[in-house]
Amino acid sequence: MAKLRLETLRKEFDRGQIVAVDDLSLDIEDGEFVTLVGPSGCGKTTTLRMIAGLESATSGHIYIGDEDVTDVHAKNRDVAMVFQNYALYPHKTVEENMGFGLRMSTDLSKEERHERVYEAAEMMGIEDLLSDKPDELSGGQKQRVALGRAIVREPDIFLFDEPLSNLDAKLRTTMRTEIQRIQQELGITSVYVTHDQEEAMTMGDRIVILRDGELQQMGAPTDVYDRPTNRFVGGFIGSPSMNFIDVDATREGGTVVLTDRDGSFSCRLPSSFADRIRDVDGAFTVGIRPEDIFPASERDENVLTTTVEVVEPIGSDNYLYLDAAEDFIARVDSDVEPEPGETIRVTFAEDDVHVFDGE
Ligand code: ADP
Ligand code: MG
Repeated sequence: MAKLRLETLRKEFDRGQIVAVDDLSLDIEDGEFVTLVGPSGCGKTTTLRMIAGLESATSGHIYIGDEDVTDVHAKNRDVAMVFQNYALYPHKTVEENMGFGLRMSTDLSKEERHERVYEAAEMMGIEDLLSDKPDELSGGQKQRVALGRAIVREPDIFLFDEPLSNLDAKLRTTMRTEIQRIQQELGITSVYVTHDQEEAMTMGDRIVILRDGELQQMGAPTDVYDRPTNRFVGGFIGSPSMNFIDVDATREGGTVVLTDRDGSFSCRLPSSFADRIRDVDGAFTVGIRPEDIFPASERDENVLTTTVEVVEPIGSDNYLYLDAAEDFIARVDSDVEPEPGETIRVTFAEDDVHVFDGE
């Protein structure tokens, strides 16, 4: 078990034409479960491969515990990685697959190895499959074997690269909980890569958001959700995505009126909102999450009056596509069922209006 520290870690490919990881610095606590999330190609796999020692860093440093392992060979790093495609040896049994790393890296006796493998197999609920070959197993069972193999190693660090992407939705949910349970039981520092923001949000003690190899934000899931530091993070975290409106602000008496370019969005916020845009010049962007929008009552002062274009039921809730700004979606209770074409009054709290400068 160990803390993990990345210090301005950089990876260039093709003589610097591609910057896959752009001076990334992260501090991960001993025993922490951190999820690394971002769109395809943002540098997640390359980051993990550098931590594992499968890829050399162009510059920067990697520390495991207090040791600088940047130039340490992969097999001498105490790191276990779990891949999306399981990476099992097809001709070896489950037991041989799980024990292989132990045979290579330790001088345990055959009996001791069997004991370690059996314990890990029990933890993953696959002790009855030990003499099977991978092609006799389902996708979920293969991934359990791959996880078991990582557990057997008792590493300082677990690395997961989209390990659940090949599984169906139901199994994915089960395995998320399993991985969290095992990580908590063993207390092993873990970095879990996914492109799925929901997976990242539900699994991580903290979540790291990457874009084009650059760190966008790191924080507890609720912090990142409540206080995204830029428009990219605001749009990436949450489903459906945050509504963005490019607005001008004008002061009217004690209030601030926000209006978009074509006038289809207009709302009045209390004067306290003026403090939040004091440093913002001219036009700026506000973000409002679909789930923070509610039907307005008579008493509400901050009201947007608009037309309903489409109503999309998703079971517990309805998505309302509204004729405001360029795209504007409200996620409301399923008992709010306006007709398309109907005029509707909606409201949102001032605190739920996120302000993004620049971009
Ligand atoms: P992610 O896992 O987030 O999808 P990757 O780390 O695989 O992203 O890739 C980051 C960037 O680096 C991408 O632009 C990808 O094309 C590039 N890249 C990754 N590996 C190589 C390589 N071996 N040679 C050249 N470019 C690569
Ligand atoms: Mg990847």
